[in-house]
Amino acid sequence: MSGVGNVKLIGDDGKRIDGRALNELRPIKMEAGVLKRAEGSCYLEWGGNKVIAAVYGPREAQPRHSQKVDRAIVQCRYNMAPFSVDERKRPGPDRRSIELSKVIGHAFENVILLDKYPKSSIDIFIEVLQADAGTRCAGLTAASVALADAGIPMRSLVAACAAGRINGKVCLDLCKEEDNYGDADLPIGVAARTGEIVLMQMDGDLSGEEFDEAFKLAIEGCAKVNEIQRQALMNRYRSEPQPMAAEGNGGVC
Ligand code: UDP
Repeated sequence: MSGVGNVKLIGDDGKRIDGRALNELRPIKMEAGVLKRAEGSCYLEWGGNKVIAAVYGPREAQPRHSQKVDRAIVQCRYNMAPFSVDERKRPGPDRRSIELSKVIGHAFENVILLDKYPKSSIDIFIEVLQADAGTRCAGLTAASVALADAGIPMRSLVAACAAGRINGKVCLDLCKEEDNYGDADLPIGVAARTGEIVLMQMDGDLSGEEFDEAFKLAIEGCAKVNEIQRQALMNRYRSEPQPMAAEGNGGVC
């Protein structure tokens, strides 16, 4: 977010560089249950972002001193593949990925019913395969579906979306160029059922009025993202039509 104000990101027709309206999300595709060996998983494409999330656990927390006697701990790892960005990223954790792992993990501590699993760990892995701005929102959104797919009890799904300011205008879901040359970015994660904000960060500057506008827009974006999450889970668990019962077995297979 360089805030380079003279890069034209909104055309004279009011459209953005990728043709979207100011309040429009990038296209989102989501599929739950894509990994055979994880307890739960989700693959998400959001604009140019490609993200996979997997959940393991609840399992016994190790080392033992990390265990909490009355609840589970959430361990989250957000990782960007070296080939996910324009300039090859050095493999392994860096300051940014450690921060994102922490804030995403904290977001889920607010919605998972942790007291159901004392001394356990719930592990969340977020792998960014291709990045195009908004990967923390994409990762949080995919991880929430993966947790639901794993059957982890939660108060609510968490949907995330960012709003920001480009060329002085508040808009939804910044793509890479907008993130690079825009003025501000406000990613938000919402527990969809309760409306609780479980993640909020800000990069750049917004006036009070712009903040209110961006906040409202991001919340509306989260509601749309949540619809897609619900659809992905319904597609996964929609009961398949049963094969016709063989004659004579009374329909019990
Ligand atoms: N990015 C990059 N190299 C990095 C980190 C980020 O090229 O080491 C790009 C990537 O496309 C990312 C974008 O910059 O999605 C914006 O990064 P930011 O830290 O704002 O997080 P995000 O918007 O992905 O949540």
